[in-house]
Amino acid sequence: MKTALLTHADCLSHVTPTGHPERVARLEHVLHALEPLDLTRVTAPLAAEDDILRVHPKSHLEELRRTLPADGYYQIDGDTFTSPGSLDAAFRAAGACVKAVDMVLGGEAPNAFCAIRPPGHHAETDTAMGFCLFGNAALAAKHALDHHGLSRVAVVDFDVHHGNGTQDLLWDDARALTITSQQMPLWPGTGRADETGVHGNVLNIPLGPDTGGAEMRSAWRDQAFPRLRSFRPELIIISAGFDAHQDDPLAQLNWSTEDFAWITAELCKIADEVCDGRVVSTLEGGYDLTALAASAKAHVEELIKAAT
Ligand SMILES: [Zn+2]
Repeated sequence: MKTALLTHADCLSHVTPTGHPERVARLEHVLHALEPLDLTRVTAPLAAEDDILRVHPKSHLEELRRTLPADGYYQIDGDTFTSPGSLDAAFRAAGACVKAVDMVLGGEAPNAFCAIRPPGHHAETDTAMGFCLFGNAALAAKHALDHHGLSRVAVVDFDVHHGNGTQDLLWDDARALTITSQQMPLWPGTGRADETGVHGNVLNIPLGPDTGGAEMRSAWRDQAFPRLRSFRPELIIISAGFDAHQDDPLAQLNWSTEDFAWITAELCKIADEVCDGRVVSTLEGGYDLTALAASAKAHVEELIKAAT
């Protein structure tokens, strides 16, 4: 069985103002890089409203609908915008993650990558934030727990920014282990090591600016991987942001493309040990188009290797 790639053209209809880093070209570059790879290509469905409501109140959805512009943009906060196609894109992004969970848990694919936007890991319970409208990784985790009846799901996040939204949405759920490394200090400012969740179910790994792949590897090897192994998740969800890359304009970590391959391979190795290799990965950040495309490709190539 092949790695599944879930995406939808609607994810290109979420448009941001000129000069905004989270732009349509990001996904176009990722999809172009993945073209030669041998994948099961799946059209992402729209998420059901219930999928969204597992992690967000109805008022959040209503606010996004009420403010969706008929043309141009609506500005939610300093850097989060919607355009006429944004809700369709967000429902496809969430739908891709839910469908990927269904496929991997249903034995239709060994693992999956969701090439989607808008990203999700900054969206908090009742607010869009940081380019994100819905908490894609967290709602996928809740779907696996509540709909499929799993007992333990891990969400791991190697985006350079703290996954504050995922942390918020899964903060009090003992069935979900959230592990996130991030540059600190950096926006959004959260993600200190003493933020550990209601049940000790959150592990934050702050990384200093101007550190690189060696520091990242030892931090994940020493802290994240033992924790993940002892939690024994039945599914691993990856928030795959590629903005820790040395060429990324938004941050100052110095990871190489090979570092993204390494962390992916290590996570797949643990998935093999504890949950039959079941991994669902979803695109978060990454703002240098060339680095993003190369890193996403390296990431998916490791998923493919793990699937065979
Ligand atoms: Zn990011």
